[in-house]
Amino acid sequence: MSSYTVTLIPGDGIGPEVTAAAVRVLNATGIDFQWETENAGASTVGSDGTALPKRVLDSVRKNRLALKGPTETPIGTGHRSVNVELRKSLDLYANLRPVKTLPGVKSRYDGVDLVVVRENTEDLYSGLEHVVVPGLFESLKIITEKASTRIARYAFAHARAKGRKKVTAVHKANIMKLSDGLFLDCCRAVAKGYPEVQYEEVIVDNCCMQLVLDPTRFDILLLENLYGDIVSDLCAGFIGGLGMAPGANIGEREAVFEAVHGSAPDIAGKNMANPIALILSGAMMLDHLNKQAAATRVREAVYAVLREGQKVTRYLGGHSGTTEIAEAIASKVEAAS
Ligand code: NAD
Repeated sequence: MSSYTVTLIPGDGIGPEVTAAAVRVLNATGIDFQWETENAGASTVGSDGTALPKRVLDSVRKNRLALKGPTETPIGTGHRSVNVELRKSLDLYANLRPVKTLPGVKSRYDGVDLVVVRENTEDLYSGLEHVVVPGLFESLKIITEKASTRIARYAFAHARAKGRKKVTAVHKANIMKLSDGLFLDCCRAVAKGYPEVQYEEVIVDNCCMQLVLDPTRFDILLLENLYGDIVSDLCAGFIGGLGMAPGANIGEREAVFEAVHGSAPDIAGKNMANPIALILSGAMMLDHLNKQAAATRVREAVYAVLREGQKVTRYLGGHSGTTEIAEAIASKVEAAS
């Protein structure tokens, strides 16, 4: 049987708790995973003098696969975001975030099933900021034809592969006529090659309103980096919150699987974090490895635990901790293996 070596980045805050939970569940599939733990984030700033030590990048380059917990980024000061650095260094250009209603989870909407496809390497996240003169700061929004075409191709190819019907490009080209205009030109050009997939364009503010009115009207949302970041958290609210929303960062060579949520310092170290978002990110890793049967077993186990409604966190109305939820899901995966 094949063995897979995966770089495991526990991260900060609730990261070590949710990564341990996801590892427990992925090991329960019976697949031979070798976990190569290499930490990054606030914890390595003290020990290594950097939030993203070179050995982390080397490990992901070697294994081509990583499971990552959230990493903390100081606000307005301190080290740069590990996520931005990791995505740029490895050219993990596509951020894929499925948003699907989960059984047994109370939410304002039923039947949500959309995918956020976010460009992951440029835009205002290029990290190009400077002081022009005191009192006048500038952040550069970089949009290139290459990156816009590549993410649009990814979104349409995903639609074709998964039988999805519509791609909605989200923009603000009425104001940023050049940068967002270029993004739209690239989306339109790519759309022509996929006549079976409906294509539409929506201005980002209107998109947020339409999402809140009726998220089921969307299928694939195709966005630049900043809009994608914001809209992802908005969409997580449709399916029970950030503790439920999985994600993947995909490049030509490497793929890093991580939840949408951050390090949640308010609940860190209390066994209160919901591990489901990262467990479902693990299921996406199984999809990526073409381990469809195992991915289905993990998802079905998550759905069964949610349906039973006993092993859920406090914020879903239950009393279970991170480890109990992971154990309940892992036992179901083992029973089905
Ligand atoms: P956050 O996602 O950490 O938390 C927002 C809210 O959601 C908090 O109330 C938190 O308790 C709750 N929450 C998040 N994940 C949860 C889970 N699994 N179970 C239960 N509740 C959960 O966002 P934030 O507070 O804006 O950011 C905190 C830190 O995380 C910042 O340093 C930020 O830079 C970082 N961050 C990292 C990533 C990443 O590594 N991919 C993503 C977003 C934010």
